[in-house]
Amino acid sequence: MDTEPPVKPPLADIDTDEMVGIDVGILKYAHDTDGTAVESLDLLDERNRLEREQRKLSHKEYESSNWEKQRRRVVECHFDIKRKRRDFLHKLSAYYAREYDLVAVEDLTVAEMLESPRNSRNTASAAWSTFTNMFEYKCKREGTHFVEVDPGGTTKECAQCGVETEELLWVRKHSCPGCGFEADRDGNAAWNILLRGLSKLAVGHSEGTPVETALPTGTAAVPAKRVVETGSPCLKEPPKAASRQG
Ligand SMILES: [Zn+2]
Repeated sequence: MDTEPPVKPPLADIDTDEMVGIDVGILKYAHDTDGTAVESLDLLDERNRLEREQRKLSHKEYESSNWEKQRRRVVECHFDIKRKRRDFLHKLSAYYAREYDLVAVEDLTVAEMLESPRNSRNTASAAWSTFTNMFEYKCKREGTHFVEVDPGGTTKECAQCGVETEELLWVRKHSCPGCGFEADRDGNAAWNILLRGLSKLAVGHSEGTPVETALPTGTAAVPAKRVVETGSPCLKEPPKAASRQG
């Protein structure tokens, strides 16, 4: 029988430091509201190997014993890629569930998002639904609130004032014509995801703590390798430990 999961902290008691919104993009795997941008997992070697083995298979006589041996190698390659990707996603989702009390992500099962150029490639290659399923499970295990939000227009809206701008103008940096708020585009999107999560959970976003003051000063690009090797994208202490010191 399962042990009882820990009780989630009351939503009203969760500090901004203990909440995180995560945006997923093509260039970076995950960009969060603390300025951490975890890069996509590099599986180029594994893919090249798979291609090589598939090519060899095509040269074998169909259903011969050599063909069967080679077919198994191809299956192994597929399995290796799947295992490495899952390992990475397990570690990344475990990190967020462990270090935060509230995690907000986009609900990419929304059909229109699957068709958008921004997310289609990524959704297919990175198995986003596997990731969110892991997230949901791990958050439950850690007593962390987990919320999925409407992904529409998260990069177009200003997290500070709500004004919508055409994505094209922002390029990599969000600069709001309405209020002058400047942020990394993905960081701004991550904030919108967190704010939507809070409103979905009916947690009021306090006017006294504007997004600007809560934003990290820079973005730290983190290779996926670090998550795989250490189980965390952090170079130093995790955000929770850091916030306790401050
Ligand atoms: Zn604005």
